[in-house]
Amino acid sequence: MIRINDIYMPLGYTDEMLAERSAKAIGVKRSDISELHLAKRSVDARKKNDIHFTVSVELKVRNEAAILKKYPPNKVCPANEQAYSVPHLSPRAHRPVVIGFGPAGMFAALCLAQSGLAPIVLERGSDVDTRTAAVDNFRKNGILSAHTNVQFGEGGAGTFSDGKLTTGIRDPRIRHIFRELVRFGAPEEILYSAKPHIGTDILRNVVKALRGEIKALGGDVIFDAKMTVILRKDDKVTGAVYEKDGRETELMTDNIILAIGHSARDTFGYLREQDIAMERKIFAMGVRIEHLQEDVNRSLYGNFAGLPALPPAEYKYAVHLPDGRSLYTFCMCPGGYIMAAASEPETVVTNGMSLHARDAVNANSALLVNVTPEDLNGDDPLAGAALQRSIEKAAFISGGSDYSAPVTLAGDLLGSRLSDHFGKVKPSYLPGVRFARIDELFPGFIAETLRDGLPLLARKADFFAEPEAVITAPETRSSSPVRIIRGPELCSLSLRGLYPCGEGAGHAGGIVSAAVDGIKCAEAVIGNG
Ligand SMILES: Cc1cc2nc3c(=O)[nH]c(=O)nc-3n(C[C@H](O)[C@H](O)[C@H](O)COP(=O)(O)OP(=O)(O)OC[C@H]3O[C@@H](n4cnc5c(N)ncnc54)[C@H](O)[C@@H]3O)c2cc1C
Repeated sequence: MIRINDIYMPLGYTDEMLAERSAKAIGVKRSDISELHLAKRSVDARKKNDIHFTVSVELKVRNEAAILKKYPPNKVCPANEQAYSVPHLSPRAHRPVVIGFGPAGMFAALCLAQSGLAPIVLERGSDVDTRTAAVDNFRKNGILSAHTNVQFGEGGAGTFSDGKLTTGIRDPRIRHIFRELVRFGAPEEILYSAKPHIGTDILRNVVKALRGEIKALGGDVIFDAKMTVILRKDDKVTGAVYEKDGRETELMTDNIILAIGHSARDTFGYLREQDIAMERKIFAMGVRIEHLQEDVNRSLYGNFAGLPALPPAEYKYAVHLPDGRSLYTFCMCPGGYIMAAASEPETVVTNGMSLHARDAVNANSALLVNVTPEDLNGDDPLAGAALQRSIEKAAFISGGSDYSAPVTLAGDLLGSRLSDHFGKVKPSYLPGVRFARIDELFPGFIAETLRDGLPLLARKADFFAEPEAVITAPETRSSSPVRIIRGPELCSLSLRGLYPCGEGAGHAGGIVSAAVDGIKCAEAVIGNG
């Protein structure tokens, strides 16, 4: 098979047109191609008068060797995808334990199960169906479950998300992860889309199917089971204790993959008490901004906006201020909703999600400012989490103490005013919102960066100049404020057999990199016979 890169295709092209252009690109007849599939497709909207798709294809064709010789490798190259495989092992005296069933824990457990090591997964939240009911109850009635919510439960923090699979890392395991996701029910298009996403409606079934395979291979996934103690002898793991239905159960194990995400502050507190080596890391905080998706489409697609061939437009921007701070957009959700993402009582946290169709009226995105270890007082490794919590609590009060989120209009943030009604953009956050001075929730440098950065963003994209855009606060959980330090074999520096993993441990950011880290930790456990 060979791959042809970067074929220009008009909007609304058909499969046959693609086959014809592919044949033309390598100087063969259409009938010489026996098989063809999409390898990558992106929207090129750089020129507003010529928006089109850029497509790469993989195909079987006569005389592949001759064609490869004829064209430069950046245009035509061999299509060699390497299959990922794990060694098959005999069961060990003690089964490995995976704590947390988010993307990192899921892919760690799947990999361990496929190798024959029958992992036991402990997840403090509930299975995805029970969890969906709890999340709906919070959004409709403002009743938060502190144990099952948008952060905790089957699928982890990614379940009620946009399911964006974009990542800044490069790793051969990514292709394998995408193929597995498709096997478990994700749409095939994630295999070729330049900006792949699944959507929360499909993700919920994907995580269930993935759990089904772990169980079919001899693993166990125990929900509503919070790990409370790591058992150790000297500097080596010997087991774990978990609490379920008020009862404590002990498991013997030599290997624990600790994939707890960034919101398990009680578990981080326990790890600090146990002298597990941790350090502060850079994280980010800010707000969510909502615009009308049609305004974003018009800005980015010009006259092509609204054509059915084009997906809802996405964006990603950063602006840099003279004081060295930056304001950047993050986790943009086209046609989505702002989610109530709190996991602790009397706090308000925002994040973004969308359904696969991305067909809601608003586009939303986080507007974030980095917080460095130097911005924090004292030397507590969990100082960042303490700052996050204090902002979340202040937001709860500011929102009216009923889990409504504080909101302001973009124009009001810049003019230090406070409106009492919405304009063209209506907020999507549930259970409710309340007008408030959101700049007062944050340390001065974040409020100032938001105020100074927004007009600079408007120079990059005109919808950021919209005074009626709605800003909902606070977005505090976009990244982990702490790193659990690990050595070259991925074990904790303090405890052999403990593998800090994924986003919460500070070794990933986002669904895909967390899943990659999960597989890496599983490989380390497999190698640690
Ligand atoms: C609403 C929302 C939208 C998002 N959208 C995107 C997106 O579109 N794309 C993207 O790449 N990223 C997105 N993210 C971020 C993404 O979800 C995370 O980066 C990712 O889930 C991190 O994976 P993880 O496995 O490391 O941790 P998590 O997904 O946080 O999973 C950790 C799990 O560990 C469990 N746990 C914690 N402590 C214990 C304990 N003591 N015992 C047992 N279990 C425990 C938790 O309940 C949780 O289920 C979004 C996040 C949110 C909240």
